[in-house]
Amino acid sequence: MKWSKALIQTLREDPSDAEIDSHKLLVRAGLVKKTAGGLYTYLPLGMRVLRKVAAIVREEMDRAGAQEIAMPILQPAELWKESGRWETMGPNMFKVKDRARHDYALAPTAEEAVVDAIRSTVSSYRQLPVTVYQIHWKFRDEIRPRFGLMRSKEFLMKDAYSFDVSSEAADESYAAMYEAYKRIFRRCGLDAVPVEADTGDIGGKSSHEFHVLAEAGEDGIAACECGYAANLEKAVRRTPVRNDPECPEPEIVPTPGAKTIEEVSKFMERPAESFVKSLVYVADGVPVMVCVGGERDVNEIKLKRFLGAKAVELADPATVLDVTGANAGSVGPVKPAKDVRIVADVGLKGGRGFVTGANRDDHHLRNVDLARDAKISDYADLVVVREGDICEKCGKAMKIKRGIEVGHVFKLGTKYTDAMKAVFKSGEADDAVMVMGCYGIGVGRTMQAIIEQSHDANGIVWPSSVSPYQVVVENLDPGDAAVDAAAGAIEAELEKRGVDVIVDDREERPGVKFKDADLIGFTVRVVVGAKSLKNGGVEIKRRADDKSKTKIVPVEGAAAAVVEALA
Ligand code: ATP
Ligand code: MG
Repeated sequence: MKWSKALIQTLREDPSDAEIDSHKLLVRAGLVKKTAGGLYTYLPLGMRVLRKVAAIVREEMDRAGAQEIAMPILQPAELWKESGRWETMGPNMFKVKDRARHDYALAPTAEEAVVDAIRSTVSSYRQLPVTVYQIHWKFRDEIRPRFGLMRSKEFLMKDAYSFDVSSEAADESYAAMYEAYKRIFRRCGLDAVPVEADTGDIGGKSSHEFHVLAEAGEDGIAACECGYAANLEKAVRRTPVRNDPECPEPEIVPTPGAKTIEEVSKFMERPAESFVKSLVYVADGVPVMVCVGGERDVNEIKLKRFLGAKAVELADPATVLDVTGANAGSVGPVKPAKDVRIVADVGLKGGRGFVTGANRDDHHLRNVDLARDAKISDYADLVVVREGDICEKCGKAMKIKRGIEVGHVFKLGTKYTDAMKAVFKSGEADDAVMVMGCYGIGVGRTMQAIIEQSHDANGIVWPSSVSPYQVVVENLDPGDAAVDAAAGAIEAELEKRGVDVIVDDREERPGVKFKDADLIGFTVRVVVGAKSLKNGGVEIKRRADDKSKTKIVPVEGAAAAVVEALA
């Protein structure tokens, strides 16, 4: 490819809506162009990367025995009604109508569609196991589309689904996908770690997310030296048995104007850990008070699960006042106005001498012994794990890291196959239900995560497996017959060896050309000019290396040296 013929536009300025480096670089390097909020056009360079990532995904799916299919993006509402998700998916799902006023969803995922396809093609245990996948566009009406391709409204996803005769067999399909994921991310040059994850709204028994650790990540991950790693939505800690010294009877103290734990803690000159933070939630319409340590945050996913509720949300101010007799900031577990259920984090069990809200505005209680003074119905794990919390597995302190979720594997069990009657003749009993797994990879998000993990001050540093072109040949003197010939020969020789090359034949200053090449981040750069030829050949440098590693090689040896540099 000749640069002069290619549709490439690089930008000097960062796009104004980009907060993270990879988003800035995606746009500045001319890989994508924003069409509207959360919607992007892949320009030729970006499309090349996307296709390379998708090709790696496809190869590894095929290697793992999965078979490629393609399902409609426009999915009839009937299928979603069968699983019950037409209602429960909520506003994240785009819904459209055809001219006959029939309802459809724009696929946010495809469990329903695939179960429909499999239940009508598989009837016997002899046809199982089977894993199918597609690489297809998905649509989600994200509350906050941002970070470029990381969280967009339309994105390319590889979604795979496995069907098995039993739970044990399904574990094997899951393991095969898990291994395939490790290979995929490694081949993309990514350092991605599997972490335990909550199974969320999709449901199911167990799941792992693959995360690329990066400051820009939207997810928190608790990680321990021993190998334990879990999404903060799910992560658990070990709480030592606690038996604080006895304390005198509670005493009320005025705390004018101090509402947050930080303010009261400053006012009373006591550390946050000596406070109980009390919040009123409404779970499926019923108020419940939740108490956690003053230094901690409620994990609403754990709370929802513990309460077995469909939905939990913070109560509105009127409910808080009604239930406790005070406004938020002065609420506590000791004698609230109404007889409300109170649940507390297990880390508070056996705790004494706490400060809590007094259920009277601008007042707190000190010397609270939870067992003696409050009616706690249950102690449970209800908080978000923090840096320094103790690992349940090994007893060491955990660290909190940030991650970008690039892939997700789920053991779904029979949630969808039951609801949608995907059954097979088992040989023994008739009509056994298939056991299912589902496995997603965000192809665009993976592409951007590679940039996030592999860039420097000058631009992107592509691993050769996904570089838009593996090699850029910088022709510094276009029109000079000897230089043109050398550049052309190297291009031809590299293409013969299966390496993709772009020749920068533009009439631009070398500085401009080098800047562009560094910004886009082609893995290897070859410089050919009248001067370099006089010096004995061409200069070869890997994007990841600094200038001192530049090699000068004769034109005839250039292709071999490039192939070596790519390896
Ligand atoms: P998140 O928690 O980031 O919203 P999710 O858990 O809802 O993602 P899954 O349903 O597990 O996502 O989808 C599989 C994969 O699709 C994710 O691991 C991610 O790589 C990708 N993905 C999900 N939502 C988006 C999005 N809005 N834009 C780009 N990629 C996405
Ligand atoms: Mg997920």
